[in-house]
Amino acid sequence: MREQANLGGMKSIQFERPVEFLRAQILRPFSALADFLYPPACSVCGISTGGHRGLCAKCWSGIRFIERPFCEVLGIPFSHDLGAGILSAEAIANPPPFDRLRSAATHDHAVRDLVHGLKYRDRTDLAPMMAGWMLRASDGAVESCDALIPVPLHRTRMLARKFNQAAELARHMASLSGKPLLAATLIRVKRTSQQVGLGAKAREDNVRGAFAITKGCENEVFGKRIVLVDDVYTTGATVAAASRTLRKAGAADITVLTFARALSEPI
Ligand SMILES: [Zn+2]
Repeated sequence: MREQANLGGMKSIQFERPVEFLRAQILRPFSALADFLYPPACSVCGISTGGHRGLCAKCWSGIRFIERPFCEVLGIPFSHDLGAGILSAEAIANPPPFDRLRSAATHDHAVRDLVHGLKYRDRTDLAPMMAGWMLRASDGAVESCDALIPVPLHRTRMLARKFNQAAELARHMASLSGKPLLAATLIRVKRTSQQVGLGAKAREDNVRGAFAITKGCENEVFGKRIVLVDDVYTTGATVAAASRTLRKAGAADITVLTFARALSEPI
């Protein structure tokens, strides 16, 4: 579909294919009906948002987007701009097995609700918006990557949960960016306990040896720039283990991209 100004200064919409025109004509009354039956509401608290789809002003104002200045490796926000390329003490003391970490927002308020909605309440309708925020936060990493790889679930957990929230986010980022999604290249070979409630060391032990590359898919990783996608970054034990597997398989560059990031105040 393309918009074209006509001589009267009015905009007319020119459809490149008749089927698009027909679809628009047929769906228009239905979308008005849908707005009547399901008025546009905030994705988090459900309050009516008038004509604007997304979040209400209150939920929106509680979101802490992660913006520069931040550590170029770990993406930890700095309270002061210390100049380009400055690393956090944490990144220097414990260099991670990935090249950089980027996240859209800190894991609190509405962001936590969005994560829980997608993960535990099957709110897959939230994924396109969340993927859009992640794409922006990726800071060009998605545009310059060869493929997006979601952190996989073990197949038994996948059966219980029906879908993988990381794969859902990666799928929408792939369609927004036009980059390939490799949903079956990295697999979870060890059924791990839930990371929630475990300390940093226990989390590390829990996910050691948990990931592998699917046999025959090694070329999809070797020499490639990969964006590894997950919903939340907490201690980083899971994405670190997944990154080590990708690195061992010859990945040239790994960006970890998550929707939320557990963070205290900026340092
Ligand atoms: Zn709201």
